[in-house]
Amino acid sequence: MKIRSPIVSVLGHVDHGKTTLLDYIRGSTIAAKEAGGITQHIGATEIPNDTIENICGDFISKLAIKDLIPGLFFIDTPGHAAFTSLRKRGGALADLAVLILDVNDGFKPQTYEALNILKMYKTPFIVVANKIDRLFGWEVHEGASFRETFSNQAKSVQQDLDNKIYEIVGELHKEGFQSERFDRVSNFASQISIIPISAKTGEGVIEVLAMLLGLAQEYLTEQLEIDENAPAKGTVLEIKEETGLGVTLDAIIYDGVLRTNDEIALMLSSEDVLVTKIRSILRPLPLEEMRDSKKKFRKLDEVVAAAGIKVAAPHLDDVVSGSPLRVLSEDTDVEQEILNEIDNITIDTEDEGILVKADTIGSLEAVVKLLREMDIPIRAADIGDVNRRDIINSSIAYDENELHGAIIAFNVDVHPNSEEDLNNSEVKLFSGDVIYQILEEYEEWVKQKQEDKKKSFYDAIIKPAKFVSLPKLVFRQSKPAIIGIESLSGTLKQGQQLINKDGHVVGSIASMEDKGETLPDISRGQRVAMAIKDAIVGKDFEEGDELYVDIPEKHYKYIEREFKDKLTEDEFETLYEFLEIKRKQDSDWGSFGLFE
Ligand code: GDP
Repeated sequence: MKIRSPIVSVLGHVDHGKTTLLDYIRGSTIAAKEAGGITQHIGATEIPNDTIENICGDFISKLAIKDLIPGLFFIDTPGHAAFTSLRKRGGALADLAVLILDVNDGFKPQTYEALNILKMYKTPFIVVANKIDRLFGWEVHEGASFRETFSNQAKSVQQDLDNKIYEIVGELHKEGFQSERFDRVSNFASQISIIPISAKTGEGVIEVLAMLLGLAQEYLTEQLEIDENAPAKGTVLEIKEETGLGVTLDAIIYDGVLRTNDEIALMLSSEDVLVTKIRSILRPLPLEEMRDSKKKFRKLDEVVAAAGIKVAAPHLDDVVSGSPLRVLSEDTDVEQEILNEIDNITIDTEDEGILVKADTIGSLEAVVKLLREMDIPIRAADIGDVNRRDIINSSIAYDENELHGAIIAFNVDVHPNSEEDLNNSEVKLFSGDVIYQILEEYEEWVKQKQEDKKKSFYDAIIKPAKFVSLPKLVFRQSKPAIIGIESLSGTLKQGQQLINKDGHVVGSIASMEDKGETLPDISRGQRVAMAIKDAIVGKDFEEGDELYVDIPEKHYKYIEREFKDKLTEDEFETLYEFLEIKRKQDSDWGSFGLFE
């Protein structure tokens, strides 16, 4: 048994300093050459423990960090897209994460997104409050520890920084995390450490490295234990064409040993398993050597986790990014395990729902997880660009349920040939590279659709209205009756059925006219001549009587249950007068049954 280096991922909002921090860490450790420098992997950089100790000096000895952990293995591509792509069965590949924030800019959409993802994968992390050198009045001490540089700042600057840290503490609290500035943390298991740094000047970076090493040693050693002789397990970063090598794959190995000529199993985009034999294992040549030769890579006979490597092997063309990489073994049915994993990701969909597309297995999994938490049904979830078939299927889904005619597309494009199909369809596309924003837009759209639907439903409902037959204005007694009226409440519409105060149907509004003009509807206070089909004045009602629009019971119930707050005060009163009339005839009219 051996303990490997923890895999560390840097996440945070765009421009908050992810790349700068990784560059600084790499640069500063290269400078510390005498202590062994760094190992450049494919897609990752490993900083050995001695190098870290060398940089951190005194500071680390104070932390009582033993030699348990060999170093820190930083994933070179920062951001949550890389984080979710780099998965392993049941979780994230990264053992630890650094969530970076611009201390002057605070929480931004991708910060929340990264936080949600870390929460979802239960990945331990530290928060780094970057760009302290930009605080007003900050005095730079290149490469110094935070403690040292902080103690040399003016009181007002210190206060300013602390206020900003407290804002971060508050924001993290809202998201369900307890946190503190790292040097005030009393319990590292329950509180998140916030380390103020400048990725540009290097201030505080020492503490970041020491803290990561300390956390790994304290809480992760069990998880980091590997069997150096076990068949390797890894995750595919990407598939790449390389001159002279053909199609290769880049992968991170997190367990066991990988050897040339090993047979490995991988996941294909067709959802099948590929078994192939490793031709060579490659790692970047150190920069100096690269200059002297045309070659970029060095061949290795074997690598032990953690390692970032390039693999040359036949038939890699259709392997998917994020695929597991497993060396075949006699004890386990590796192929079946990979198939089970494909099932876990793809089959878990409903008959009806929306379509999800994403660029890698990991990001797809993350989006699907978030959608599930929001109770949004998913019809299908696939890797790759949005294509014609997706649009056709979504159009069909739209016809059955408008809300299912949506495509959530994370980090993928619409296939150029399919743009037109999309524009000509009712399908709604939500795309982008911030899951949380895409989902917010989708929810907004759903809300709008539901409101539109409710509105057209409301418009179709017969609502309370009444009028008075004005005395001495009976122009014709019957066939049809024509009388002068004044609308007292609500909106009267042509065609509506009318009842009198005893609840008897008197006929329906044939037409309404004012000064020779026909009016399809009139509102409260208007006086018009009304023709009422089938009514006889003197028999069905008298002049001076009030007549009500007859509301069907079903409509009444909808109003009562959903739209009552949309009625005006006089409509509301009329509704209850109308109800009283109805209930005189049938005391149960308009009451709700047990199952309504
Ligand atoms: P990313 O998008 O998160 O990878 O952010 P970058 O590392 O590319 O940084 C964005 C910008 O902020 C660049 O112009 C950096 O030079 C700058 N930057 C990053 N860290 C610091 C810092 O600590 N101090 C200052 N002053 N600028 C920084």
